[in-house]
Amino acid sequence: SYARIDPPDVEQLGRSSWTLLHSIAARYPEAPSTTQKQEIKQFMTIFSHIYPCNWCAKDFEEFIRNNAPRVDSREELGRWLCEAHNDVNKKLGKEEFNCNLWTKRWVDGWD
Ligand code: FAD
Repeated sequence: SYARIDPPDVEQLGRSSWTLLHSIAARYPEAPSTTQKQEIKQFMTIFSHIYPCNWCAKDFEEFIRNNAPRVDSREELGRWLCEAHNDVNKKLGKEEFNCNLWTKRWVDGWD
């Protein structure tokens, strides 16, 4: 039998989704091919259309419209995503994350 687990609320969904998105950026190539660049842009666009929180999706879509994904390197993508995440942090009244620490948090670890 299965333990009962409810569907994720907006917060749980958000934490899991940021973990996935930042982890994708953390493994994105330092020197991506044209195809890899196209695919990550398409991914972000599609993600902003299908994200299963309607008002979150709408704002993320708008962020992408005003701030085209920067996909020429891992460093660029990580910073762009950090800025996208900070846009949501600001909206929710959360502390902004220092994007200079993005690599420590999502690629290398703190020690
Ligand atoms: P989270 O914001 O989930 O962050 C998880 C961890 O990431 C943090 O503990 C920190 O270590 C790290 N982190 C924090 N900021 C950054 C950053 N800028 N760059 C890199 N790492 C960082 N919720 C709403 O209520 N309304 C919305 O409109 C909304 N829109 C969203 C849009 C998207 C695309 C996503 C993925 C989520 C959205 N959420 C929204 C969820 C919200 O962003 C949080 O995920 C949720 O509130 C849980 O917050 P948290 O404090 O646990 O940390």
